[in-house]
Amino acid sequence: MKLIHSFQTRIAGSLFLLMLVVIALVYLTVKAATEASAVRQSYDQLDTGARVFRQELDSRCRRLNDAVRVLAADFGFRDAVASGDVPTLRSVLANHGARVGAGDTYLLDLDGRLIASTVAGHSQEEPLPNVAATSNGDGCVVASVGLPLLRVTVPVRAPLPIAQVVMTFAMDQAMAEEFRSLINLDVVFLGAAPAMASTLPETRRELLVQAQADAPATDAVWQLALDGHLYQVKRLVLGTAEAPVQVYLLRSLDSALAEFGPLLRQLGLIACGALLAALLGALALARNLAQPLRQLSEVSWRIGQGDYLVKIEVPRRDEFGRLAQVLEGMRQGIAEREQQLSHNALHDALTGLPNRVLAEERLRVFMATQPQVSLLYLGLEGFQAINETAGVAGGDHILKVVAERAQALLAGRGCVSRPVGDEFLVQLCRLDVAGAVGLIAQWRALLAEPIEHEGQLFRLNCRVGVAGYPQHGDDPHLLIERARGAMLDAGGMPDRLRVYDQERDAAQQRRLQLVQDLPLAAERGELLLVFQPKVALHHQGGHQAEVLLRWRHAALGMVSPAEFIPLAECSGSMAGLTRWVIRTAIRQLALWQAQGREVKVSLNVSAVDLSDRQLPERVIGWLDEAEVSARQLTFEITESAIMADPEAAIALLKQLSSLGIRLSVDDYGTGHASLAHLKRLPVDELKIDQSFIRELEAGSDDAVIVRSTIEMGHNLGLEVVAEGVEEARALALLRGWGCDVIQGYYISRPVPAAEFEAWMERQDLPVTEALA
Ligand code: C2E
Ligand code: MG
Ligand code: MG
Repeated sequence: MKLIHSFQTRIAGSLFLLMLVVIALVYLTVKAATEASAVRQSYDQLDTGARVFRQELDSRCRRLNDAVRVLAADFGFRDAVASGDVPTLRSVLANHGARVGAGDTYLLDLDGRLIASTVAGHSQEEPLPNVAATSNGDGCVVASVGLPLLRVTVPVRAPLPIAQVVMTFAMDQAMAEEFRSLINLDVVFLGAAPAMASTLPETRRELLVQAQADAPATDAVWQLALDGHLYQVKRLVLGTAEAPVQVYLLRSLDSALAEFGPLLRQLGLIACGALLAALLGALALARNLAQPLRQLSEVSWRIGQGDYLVKIEVPRRDEFGRLAQVLEGMRQGIAEREQQLSHNALHDALTGLPNRVLAEERLRVFMATQPQVSLLYLGLEGFQAINETAGVAGGDHILKVVAERAQALLAGRGCVSRPVGDEFLVQLCRLDVAGAVGLIAQWRALLAEPIEHEGQLFRLNCRVGVAGYPQHGDDPHLLIERARGAMLDAGGMPDRLRVYDQERDAAQQRRLQLVQDLPLAAERGELLLVFQPKVALHHQGGHQAEVLLRWRHAALGMVSPAEFIPLAECSGSMAGLTRWVIRTAIRQLALWQAQGREVKVSLNVSAVDLSDRQLPERVIGWLDEAEVSARQLTFEITESAIMADPEAAIALLKQLSSLGIRLSVDDYGTGHASLAHLKRLPVDELKIDQSFIRELEAGSDDAVIVRSTIEMGHNLGLEVVAEGVEEARALALLRGWGCDVIQGYYISRPVPAAEFEAWMERQDLPVTEALA
């Protein structure tokens, strides 16, 4: 199929077909011309033959006439005629007739009556068929009862005519054969049917007789097929008008054409030879044309496949050669651009150093060939400031200088690359982590060497993260990530250096998992609330507690809020958690309310919750739904949460406060809430941070702070809560200083609702008495 549609096959096929048509036309034309010529020749031959036939017939008649005249002039014969000696006459006639080859011979008187004849048993009374008839101008041909005859009549003179001698010669087969050998045509004498003398084969004679009816006018030539053989036929009509004699002359066209047979065969051979030559020529030409095309198409295909190294060579001076030159130019252009592109894809355009992709690849090769590889991940410090001072061009210049120096320092013992911005990765072969750390001073010195740009000198410093193969991993990507992570962590180290630490990585993984699972925790039923009782020191009141969130992770177990709350705040899950906590706490209050207990709870609200403008609306909705009073709720907000966006916080807190919800400043003393802000806030309570309470002792700094805070709170009209009360000593001090409410392990750890209920049960006695 492919071969049939190939250019070469098409060209060869077309040329061959063209030659075939031309040669066939030439052959057929020559053949037609040859046949026409054969027909014409045979026509001429017939014409000539007819003329020769007539002449020969005349001359034959004349010769017969002369021969009979010799008999009529013979003295003895005249005597016998005069004497009427019939037997003698009969004998003489027979002898003479036989000598000249006559058929029948008659002697007639001047009135045409028979005197003697060579015909046996012929009587005088019998008529003499044809004998008396006169022949026409053509000579002596007469029709007869059988075959036509040549008839000669000569008078016998003594000296006046006394009788006439008549001799006849049959136009028989022998005569026909004679004429045939003379004029080289088939001859047919047609007598009274069925008599006929013919040189034609037996079968064709009858067919000729049948075809007579279609014969055209005399002397015209017509074509006739006899028994599958083609003849040209000419008809001569001899004798008299009353008794015509028909003579047919036939020329076989088959044999006329056969004469041209060798010529046509030769022509056929020449045509076949020419055709073969044409085929070979067409194949050679097609090959000559298709070869460079095939070459070009193959090369183009390879270029299409991305192989730009294949050279296009067609050593010709024609159009193909020029096309190849043009393509070669294009290929070189593409190859150069491709090379440039692949270089760009793997190198940093600014410094020409390998980029991250190539760095990974190099590391992969080092890992496969070297027993140890160490990575130094350098992060330039304060590069942002350099960019601002020296401009982007200056920054670029400095990075280039660093790259050059780094390469010089490395001296081919590894690979230095620039994965991103102001970070460089140095891969050191055959060196363990300790060895690599030993080299860091050199690298620092390299950076510390001043770099000049437009008259300004810049000195660089860097953070360094170190990781090593094989101890820190065998995945190039991961290992580079680990070195980078160590570099980022190095920012917090005094020597700005950190070696990758697997444990830190595990913590990171744990954080990632927690962040991923946080949004689903409520749905999975992994969240629960615990309640830590709060106790009022100076007045009786209902029970109160702080609601604290717990997360029982399916895989990691109990997760502390100190761990997941900051993660929820920075990953956007906090708002959802807070809603769940408030809603669940309100439901719990409703349950206790149904049991006849009015409990007040404090709920923790994060900084991000303070920007949730729909929070008040939602809370009131849930309170209404559960038929719980807003006065049972206290929202604890840390100082830092308020200070993150004081205006928004104040607006929201005012809204909440207007609903009847109490507000408390949690962890008071650890943040930077200014008194000015506190004054503006609709706060009801200060909750002194447990770090001041846990180890509270009389006369300590904490005691001064706590005592003055209690006083200040009271002066501002706020209730003061102390959390983190672990010991009776702290309780006593707080009570002495007038602290309103306490919370801490000394009273109870945070407990599930059921346990809190049990705790409340135990509080039959007034709280202060119980504690006393
Ligand atoms: P916080 O609001 O200051 O809660 C008090 C924390 O101190 C609780 O820790 C409590 O168990 C602990 N604590 C109470 N008394 C004592 C004591 O006598 N000694 C000691 N050492 N600790 C005591 P927890 O439950 O681990 O909560 C830690 C923090 O997580 C909370 O501090 C709060 O800021 C946050 N948190 C807990 N639940 C939630 C919540 O539902 N929402 C938000 N936004 N934060 C919550
Ligand atoms: Mg709290
Ligand atoms: Mg607190």
